[in-house]
Amino acid sequence: MKRLLKGGRVVDPANRIDGIHDVLIDGDRIARVGRDLPVDGATVVEIPDGLIVCPGFIDMHVHLREPGQEHKETVATGTASAVAGGFTAVACMPNTTPVNDGANVTAYILARAAEANLARVYPIGAVSRGSKGELLADIADLKKAGCVAITDDGHPVSTALLLRRALEYAGMFGMVVIEHCEDQTLKGDGVAHEGFHASSLGLRGIPGAAEALHVERGALMSELTGSAFHVAHMSARSSLRSARKAKEAGIRLTCEVCPHHFTLTDALLGAPIPYDTNTKMNPPLREEADRDAMLAGIADGTVDAIATDHAPHHYDEKKVEFDRAPFGIVGLETAVSLSLDRLIHTGLIRLPRLVELLSVNPARILGVAGGSLSEGAPADVTIIAPDLEVRIDASRLRSKSKNTPFDGWELRGGVAATLVGGRTLFRNEGVRLNSL
Ligand SMILES: [Zn+2]
Repeated sequence: MKRLLKGGRVVDPANRIDGIHDVLIDGDRIARVGRDLPVDGATVVEIPDGLIVCPGFIDMHVHLREPGQEHKETVATGTASAVAGGFTAVACMPNTTPVNDGANVTAYILARAAEANLARVYPIGAVSRGSKGELLADIADLKKAGCVAITDDGHPVSTALLLRRALEYAGMFGMVVIEHCEDQTLKGDGVAHEGFHASSLGLRGIPGAAEALHVERGALMSELTGSAFHVAHMSARSSLRSARKAKEAGIRLTCEVCPHHFTLTDALLGAPIPYDTNTKMNPPLREEADRDAMLAGIADGTVDAIATDHAPHHYDEKKVEFDRAPFGIVGLETAVSLSLDRLIHTGLIRLPRLVELLSVNPARILGVAGGSLSEGAPADVTIIAPDLEVRIDASRLRSKSKNTPFDGWELRGGVAATLVGGRTLFRNEGVRLNSL
């Protein structure tokens, strides 16, 4: 079956395309991209003016919670949330129950993903057995089972020595080590960013230095081993400084930033809803200078990827005192609108750079398919409507969990449609797209 997406603005930075082009999809593959392609028996889908056709977005940091915490999310509900949010693929963190530290758990996740048959799922394996920070997991086994990277996310890798070994092994298999950068002695039992707002609310603080220390450690271990190191959910201005310095020195370091860290600050801890547990995440919402540094890093190219750290929690788990609530918010269905509203419509960056952050670079860092609309590539396509008026409604999220601080937000820009392997898996009812 052939479909011709006709007349949209195609933004495909990997192929240096930004202009009105047609995209011909043959079955599950991209057949051709070009101007005024012949219809040649294909079903024609007219792309209305103003819509943008992009290579499918890839979220390289999500928690799908299965196996073990299916009351928060499942592979099926998480990938439904992904396609509704414009993501054609997600990479899922290993801190499930049991931890994804071996081929059996990886195979289980992949089987659930095949059953759901929505967004592509790339499992990420644990660095250490049980993510306990003691013995290295069987990294060859994880790679063979289908893992694309390793991490002990939720926690940092326990010691510099273990991180060194992880980088050495992962490097042999061409995998990146993803680090939850956090010095646990400095974090202590902190629950919010150390600063004015945490102090005035009587909350224990976590300084930005707790993160930056581990960015530095990772950069040094990457330099020592020559292997690729990736900073998860970067939030502190000192971390950005360290990442920039490492990149200038030619170290194989990459980094991601979450939408909440480039849109929100710790002022949200006290108002409008004091102690709202949907403002509790790790790393925490930081102060304005940190938020502005993340925006600067996105603008100047230091930041490689936007990832959501989609962390679903059940209503009852979040409905407790701030100190006792789990860290994290859902992010898959708000990321694209937040990015368009706060990065594109403010003039900070242009669309090709946004596609790099959401598609090209995540594919490159993880070494997975996608990131371009090249001929023969999987027909994973995200169509965005940059001027669509969007109102975030937590109750209508596809995710099983509704823990978002963005409920009720009005944003400019959203997802029009999501195609995975040529199949339309999401279509926004508010956008006119005939026969897609
Ligand atoms: Zn983390």
